Amino acid sequence: MINKLLDNITKYEGTKFMKLAGEGMDDITPVSDLKSLEVPAIYVHVPFCHKLCPFCCFNRYLFKEDLARAYFLALKKELDMYAAKGFNFSDVYIGGGTPTILMDELESLIAYLRKLYDIKRVSVETTPPAMTQENIDRLKSSGVNRVSVGIQSFDDKVLEAMGRTITTGDDARQALIRSQGQFDTVNCDFIFNFPYQPIETFISDVKTFKELKIDQATFYPLMPSPRKKTAMEKKFAKVDFTREEKFYKILLDELKNDGYTVSTVWCFSRGDHMIDEYIVDSPDYVGAGAGSVGLVNGNFYVNAFAVENYIKKIDQDKFPIIRYRNLSEREHIYYYFLTKLFGMQVNKEQFKKDFGKNIDVRLFKELAAMKLYGLLTEDKENVWVTDKGMFSVSIMMRNFFASLNTLREHCINNKL
Ligand code: SF4
Repeated sequence: MINKLLDNITKYEGTKFMKLAGEGMDDITPVSDLKSLEVPAIYVHVPFCHKLCPFCCFNRYLFKEDLARAYFLALKKELDMYAAKGFNFSDVYIGGGTPTILMDELESLIAYLRKLYDIKRVSVETTPPAMTQENIDRLKSSGVNRVSVGIQSFDDKVLEAMGRTITTGDDARQALIRSQGQFDTVNCDFIFNFPYQPIETFISDVKTFKELKIDQATFYPLMPSPRKKTAMEKKFAKVDFTREEKFYKILLDELKNDGYTVSTVWCFSRGDHMIDEYIVDSPDYVGAGAGSVGLVNGNFYVNAFAVENYIKKIDQDKFPIIRYRNLSEREHIYYYFLTKLFGMQVNKEQFKKDFGKNIDVRLFKELAAMKLYGLLTEDKENVWVTDKGMFSVSIMMRNFFASLNTLREHCINNKL
């Protein structure tokens, strides 16, 4: 019952949160009005892929070399704009799309980031075919600390059903074997609760990950945008969210109860490792590149999605922000609370520092209800997510990202 309630509340709140201002006012640049900030994290998006996987809700387009090279140039100009405002970043997360699609441009981008900012850690997303020995060496030479390889499943039938034709399960395995031990952290991404995905193959995927002794795995529940959901339901069966808990239980049994560190409710590591979810550690973060999302000083914003539109705005020396929302205090606190729960704990002192109020007072009802149902526990310093609460937080986070995917779909379809 409590999960149903949290499901409904977060669906409603997520939809409200994603109603952004700026319709017809695309020269609004809320970031430019801010004082210089020491924001630790920047996310940089590279929206090109060799093939487009049908289930994917990210902002991605078929690779065209000329356009991609013009895009990397525009990205550097956007980074200049943040540097000119006095921003500095220690952690950079380069995602996509496929950031490794043009290795020379990626190397040059990382070097440029280092020139502008005091970068300490670099994380790069990629695909199994890109993890050749040559590319591994080049990423290492660029000082990349963490690679995140999109696997989704090792099962060829599941991959085929997903339309993920860029790799086979065996190629994915070999790419991980080649990469493991070459970086501070190797992560692999999986999906669960895809309409055609037997529970048994998911168990086998988790076991293979363990056998390969990869540093880390992140398991994303299916969180389709409305169109993708309809398309999947036409092709397969109804998207069935009631199956989700069975999949999640496997993660608890096979990973949490087998000594893996819970880095987020979706991410399990052998020991301590850098994670992809900068939203957990960095309450403020900048999003650069087409379709990126940022949160700075209470402003949640998105960049232009269409690559041509993005480049055009940069060429006009404007921040490419097309929509934003100045969060109310309540929205900001809810967002903060959710992202911290996603990372398994909320530090009470830090909450007070960030919002000037005690969490026990500000979120009294929420904490009381979640503790009553055994989802949270607390000590003097922290509020903790319990084993039982992990699935509840997974539902809440899935709804938040599903709302974001709905916004993405709207922006992509309207070529914003
Ligand atoms: S899943 Fe990865 S490779 Fe496939 S389209 Fe999306 S970003 Fe590109």
